Amino acid sequence: TQAHVEAVEACRSLNAFITETPEQALSGADASDERRRKGNAGVLEGIPLAIKDLFCTQDVLTTAGSHILDGFQPQYESTVSANLWAAGAVMLGKTNLDEFAMGSSNMTSYYGGVENPWRRSGSNEPLVPGGSSGGSAAAVAARCALGATGTDTGGSIRQPAAFCGIVGMKPTYGRCSRWGTVAFASSLDQAGPMTRTVRDAAIMLRGMAGHDPKDSTSVDTPVPDYEAAMTGDVRGLKVGIPKEYRIDGTPAEIDAVWKQGIEWLKAAGAEMVDISLPHTKYALPTYYIIAPAEASSNLARYDGVRYGLRVPGETLDEMYEATRGEGFGAEVKRRILIGAYVLSAGYYDAYYNKARRIRTLIANDFKAAYEKVDVVLTPTAPSAAFGMGDKMDDPVAMYLNDVFTVPASLAGLPGISIPAGLSGEGLPLGLQLLGQPFEEGTLMKVAEVLE
Ligand code: GLN
Repeated sequence: TQAHVEAVEACRSLNAFITETPEQALSGADASDERRRKGNAGVLEGIPLAIKDLFCTQDVLTTAGSHILDGFQPQYESTVSANLWAAGAVMLGKTNLDEFAMGSSNMTSYYGGVENPWRRSGSNEPLVPGGSSGGSAAAVAARCALGATGTDTGGSIRQPAAFCGIVGMKPTYGRCSRWGTVAFASSLDQAGPMTRTVRDAAIMLRGMAGHDPKDSTSVDTPVPDYEAAMTGDVRGLKVGIPKEYRIDGTPAEIDAVWKQGIEWLKAAGAEMVDISLPHTKYALPTYYIIAPAEASSNLARYDGVRYGLRVPGETLDEMYEATRGEGFGAEVKRRILIGAYVLSAGYYDAYYNKARRIRTLIANDFKAAYEKVDVVLTPTAPSAAFGMGDKMDDPVAMYLNDVFTVPASLAGLPGISIPAGLSGEGLPLGLQLLGQPFEEGTLMKVAEVLE
């Protein structure tokens, strides 16, 4: 813990942390030693972790990367972080993120962008770590934390994991409790581990997951020992290769890593099966209707009365307007506008209801595929990490980052990103494995072969 507290300090130039909690880390480590002496060690005993600043942490500033939560110190702990502390882990601090987890670059954070610890060979241009869990990914990649929590609504664990050369898993929707996690799009949000290795992800997920009566969408099935599933034996396992994920304009190096992954799995005895997920091309537009719709509703609670920032006005309405006008950044406002529009009378059927129907078709595509295959292999993102100024004036180009991650989010399925190779410029590239509901263990087993 001491070494990691020092590493967090040494890496400040990355801006990966919004809040450092060294005292909490060191006293947590002492308490951990005590439990170990008494023979009560938990599965994560003494492991120093970073927590995405979307998880409420009792008496510790929780910002969601937004100005509107200015000074917010929750009186309660999120279930996921409480589970981690109960398993013996200690907290190093709260990591930076895109505002309310809306973004793919970490550049929408009120607290500023995060630098990816990686550089293109021969260049010193700072690159984004991806997003929205960019601070968590950078902290793990820079060896500031042994692991970090992330949340993934449409790719926010998997894409930054790919950009930073680490492992990131989005579990099945309902596997981890959403209670005490600042809500973005409630039917999609899911917490998961970001770690250096697949084995670490298996250990950490076991510490985070579990049924929680405080979240009605949390699923009441026992949490398996994911490590036990990692037998190394993938012989006879069927891996689906979806033809719709070969999209025009994907750089050749992304295809090359995908082919390499296929070869590795074949060599380990798995069988490749060509599959079709025909509604894939509708996933991105569907997501960018459903996620903003839910966000516009979830973010209605920030009114200057209940939390954080309050900007005074002559009347109550003026106070609301001034607070929300100043408290939210441009991307969050864009999402609220889109969400309110697609939910408004007259457009609800044309946009929101249609998107919900397409969401079902996308889920059905996966169901049909899983009659034939055990897992699906795709690239995680259509590019490597990009420059900190890139794509900022083009929201649609930014949204395209999620093209490979969003379909599984809409279907509620688990996915993992594994570092699988380097781009021509020496940047990490990730491969994504998607699985059947609650088959995280199978994903871990296959992912280890690709690692
Ligand atoms: N990049 C996607 C978005 O901006 C996904 C974000 C997420 O998964 N939280 O909505």
